[in-house]
Amino acid sequence: MYLTEEILEQIRRSVRHAKNSAYYRAYFADIEPEDIRTEDDFRKLPFTDKENLRDAYPLGLCAVPADDVVRIHSSSGTTGTPVIIPYTQKDVDDWAVMFKRCYEMAGITRADRIHITPGYGLWTAGIGFQLGAELLGAMSIPMGPGNTDKQIKMMIDLGSTVLAATSSYALLLAEEIEKRGVKDKIKLRKGVIGSERWGEKMRRRIASELGVELYDIYGLTEIYGPGIGINCQAGDAMHMWTDFLYYEIIDPKTGENAACGESGELVVTTLQKEGAPLIRYRTHDLTREVAEPCACGSDYPRIAAIIGRSDDMVKVKGTMIFPSRVDELLAGVEGVSSEYQIIIDHMNGKDVITVFFETAADGAEGRRAIEKEVEHGFKANIGLTPKARAVGRGELPRSEKKTPRIFDNRY
Ligand code: ZN
Repeated sequence: MYLTEEILEQIRRSVRHAKNSAYYRAYFADIEPEDIRTEDDFRKLPFTDKENLRDAYPLGLCAVPADDVVRIHSSSGTTGTPVIIPYTQKDVDDWAVMFKRCYEMAGITRADRIHITPGYGLWTAGIGFQLGAELLGAMSIPMGPGNTDKQIKMMIDLGSTVLAATSSYALLLAEEIEKRGVKDKIKLRKGVIGSERWGEKMRRRIASELGVELYDIYGLTEIYGPGIGINCQAGDAMHMWTDFLYYEIIDPKTGENAACGESGELVVTTLQKEGAPLIRYRTHDLTREVAEPCACGSDYPRIAAIIGRSDDMVKVKGTMIFPSRVDELLAGVEGVSSEYQIIIDHMNGKDVITVFFETAADGAEGRRAIEKEVEHGFKANIGLTPKARAVGRGELPRSEKKTPRIFDNRY
């Protein structure tokens, strides 16, 4: 993203403020905000990564007096120490403003009834959807995840018009609605799907089974939560609220800025955050800058839909397996659903890849033919030959949070 003198001034202010926290005071001990005069100076600043945030546990990132903190959130983290992010009232208010903008970008109004299925609690998801809905003046229905019977009953009885969910949970609900034959009682018109990489095929399935228009909302707990960007009606690239944050796309290996339009890792610097300002935070989300002006007329800069995580890429026999490539490849095979799992094992001195996918095809012969097609597609598109194994629709696990796709059992 283009760095203007005005943004540089905001960055200097943010660095100065970050140094009020115990963590940045030590981490940036040699850095004077006044010395950040040019884009080059800025790009020499060290990155902040999740490890830094863990080291700051519990409140080392807090850059305001503890009395000014009105709330904390925490990112789950699969192992080890969690990350704690403190919020001031201004942070909560700013987040609501951004989230309201997301709803507006998706054409959602105060007349809508927003059915919120992401979890509430330390996680930022549910409460973020709610904050934005309340500021917008829409009716929020704070369901949280689970209890499909109740979800569908409330959806029908309250006439929910917007579904807020992860893509895997939206798919699960779509399947249940279809199974129960109650689609004509559902009034949903839009889905706002929380940041998770999802393939075109899954998108089409959710959209057609629920009969809704889908929007990708972006965000992460470390930087407010969901709601810092969303796509518009003009395409699947996401507008980012750059009055609150500055972003860069870097090469995840070298840390250098990627050329405009080149894929890389999204790095975010907060410009307004009080509780826990972050400088050059590595999101590990892979995307690219979309430079062309948007047909919707919004001037907010755009990034492409997230194609994966830099730490999700798995290397087998020197070849990278990228979940988004697998999505694309399976989308091209007739009779295969969007759900899959890849298991990588090390057996008899060799790496063995097994791809499980769902199909509606019955009979051993039909299934074997599709398995062959998946194996060939994998070889042609990814350069590796797996064993493909067909299972029935709904047999692979769905999750209310993010559904893991690749399981590497080699280590
Ligand atoms: Zn647009």
